[in-house]
Amino acid sequence: MRLRNVPKAREVMVTNEYVFTEPNNMCNTWFEVFGNHNPIHIEIGMGKGKFISTLAHTNPNINYVGIEKYSSVLLRAVEKQNELQLPNLRFIRMDAENICEVFGKYEVNRIYLNFSDPWPKDRHAKRRLTSKQYFDRYNKILKPDGKVEFKTDNISLFDFSIEQVKEAGWRLEAQTRDLHNNAVLLEGNVMTEYEERFSLQGNPICKLIAVR
Ligand code: SAM
Repeated sequence: MRLRNVPKAREVMVTNEYVFTEPNNMCNTWFEVFGNHNPIHIEIGMGKGKFISTLAHTNPNINYVGIEKYSSVLLRAVEKQNELQLPNLRFIRMDAENICEVFGKYEVNRIYLNFSDPWPKDRHAKRRLTSKQYFDRYNKILKPDGKVEFKTDNISLFDFSIEQVKEAGWRLEAQTRDLHNNAVLLEGNVMTEYEERFSLQGNPICKLIAVR
């Protein structure tokens, strides 16, 4: 994602009730944050937040946490949430490599990864959000019957991700290389910003669901 230096983005994050700016700023439990024990679904690398905000609006009995590394990107989602004030939606500005610092063992019911950065160089493979190293992190925070759902238009990243699912000892519950022509997996699909852009360009969208 191209980054712009958005003035005041960091300041807005620090003072906003819906955003945690760093893992070490979080002293509450998720029960204290949301005031209920509803399931927790997270999106890692949420960008401007269209996907997670839509889900939070549609599913008030699920708590959603969006994770994004950059304030300048997250700002758009925060502005929208300031208008909508959805009680079941929060954001954390952080690098997902520290995800186990903000969720306890089996605290998360579902993890969404949408159009994750491909990190094309081999030496950066472990930074990909679908690498074995990341699945090992997800293994700690995701409930035993939880799912990881991943969408991308990047074929190389999709091939890599399928290998890594198996390498990490997980299995594929479902997969498609043409989501928008797969009636079963398309049901209930919420388009992300990148999904809209790439499907308009004619790129097929790949999706996998990984479970243990
Ligand atoms: N998910 C959105 C979508 O589908 O429209 C945005 C996709 S964009 C290509 C990837 C996003 O993931 C960027 O906003 C980037 O800053 C974020 N990101 C990449 N690596 C991350 C990490 N390790 N931790 C948190 N966010 C990350």
